[in-house]
Amino acid sequence: LDKVDAALGLITEIDGFPEPGVRFRDLSPLFADAAGFSTVVDALASTIEPEVGLLAAVEARGFVLAAAVGYAAGLGVVLVRKPGKLPAVAGRVDYELEYGTASLELPAGVVAPGQRIQVVDDVLATGGTVKAACALLEKAGAAVAGVSVVLELAGLGGRATLGDRVVRALSTV
Ligand code: IMP
Repeated sequence: LDKVDAALGLITEIDGFPEPGVRFRDLSPLFADAAGFSTVVDALASTIEPEVGLLAAVEARGFVLAAAVGYAAGLGVVLVRKPGKLPAVAGRVDYELEYGTASLELPAGVVAPGQRIQVVDDVLATGGTVKAACALLEKAGAAVAGVSVVLELAGLGGRATLGDRVVRALSTV
């Protein structure tokens, strides 16, 4: 078992959360383990595409990962936020969830047109969240160079949802 596999082994599975029939992957034990966390952060840093100038973090667990990856890789972070948190908004996207809709907002004055950005999140499930984050960044004129996640739940089709975008997952289950 290599170090990354050992770290990923700290992720636990909870059946029936947030609703019956769903198996939730909980990264909390991984985040709390010093060796596991730094191993996963370094592994994510190695998935960043060339010429990337900024990381985009998806609220909320993406914030934890992207902040550390940014430090490791020498990159800054833009926080893609749930609505109502930002004093000045560059753009907003609304997207469909299984039940209802959600929105994400980008802070004003942070993303430069033409900038190459890597999106960071914890889990890629249906892909709706990351797709919305990509759309938001692209609407602001940025180019999404790639998407980095710890875990890809392949059965939910997130990769296909993201089309031609480069998706790097440390583990696909
Ligand atoms: P998606 O939009 O269906 O791809 O769901 C991805 C978003 O929901 C990410 O921001 C994740 O944080 C969260 N998510 C979905 N499934 C899980 C899971 O099993 N564990 C932790 N987060 C999850």
